[in-house]
Amino acid sequence: MSLRELTILGCGSQQHTRERNHNAYLLRWKTEGFLFDPGEATQRQFIFAKIAPTAVTRIFVSHFHGDHCLGLGAMILRLNLDKVPQPIHIYYPESGKRYFDNLRYSSIYTQTITIVEHPVKVSKEMSLVDETEDFLIYGAMLNHGIDCVGWRIQEKDTRKCVQSKLKEKGVHGPMVKELLEKGVIVTQYGRVDIDDVSYVKPGDSVAVVIDTLKCSQAVELSKNAKLLLIESTYLDEEKELAESYKHMTATQAASIAKEAQVEKMVMTHFSARYSDQTLFEQEARGIFHNSHAAEDLKRFTF
Ligand SMILES: [Zn+2]
Ligand SMILES: [Zn+2]
Repeated sequence: MSLRELTILGCGSQQHTRERNHNAYLLRWKTEGFLFDPGEATQRQFIFAKIAPTAVTRIFVSHFHGDHCLGLGAMILRLNLDKVPQPIHIYYPESGKRYFDNLRYSSIYTQTITIVEHPVKVSKEMSLVDETEDFLIYGAMLNHGIDCVGWRIQEKDTRKCVQSKLKEKGVHGPMVKELLEKGVIVTQYGRVDIDDVSYVKPGDSVAVVIDTLKCSQAVELSKNAKLLLIESTYLDEEKELAESYKHMTATQAASIAKEAQVEKMVMTHFSARYSDQTLFEQEARGIFHNSHAAEDLKRFTF
């Protein structure tokens, strides 16, 4: 099976702590390296994580608060230095174009790589933002007081052939390709329909919901996701504070995971006031069992 792994490069919020870098999350899946919210010092976190920055293919900036984007300029420079051959797609809320440009052109360098900008204009209704060979990328506006986009990476459905059935029906070699393309083929045993010898494997999905109040969009983005990466800035004891800063608590994050029936939830974006993130797991697991707290450099498979 190809790599399916989320690496936490940073899980802090507004300010760094000794244990937590600003946000940054690398999702490696098939041939893609999706980098979410490169906060300050993301470039250095790659070194600690022992991952080459060249793994990145697409960068997503949920919103332009500093802890989610201040590392973008340095990441672009780094990818440039490494002369990555692949185009780097960068998605960000359209209204933040000015901040994007500030970050992209924040220092002197000669651009050697191809950057494809995707200024994203989405509403609270989840909609398609982009399509790749393997994935559908959806976005929806969250509820953070400023434009802030939540993401859903949806793997496309794939058709899987059953070898024993192919053999039984006399389909082999180039005939397999022909059957997959045409949907029907005639062999020495007669007509063979694609469904006779293969099945559709539904694609999996990963949702990223960072910096928001609890909202229905967060649930929609997360529906049946294999993995949900979600902000949980506070514990329930600080829910008034969470509300006033337009953030969530572990209880609220867990209730979204439960409602959306996700398989695994990873909480992140912890306030610097908490040094022990197991408190988040304790609180969340009362509502949603498969809850985990992010830690810098920790990896989660799905
Ligand atoms: Zn934040
Ligand atoms: Zn924010």
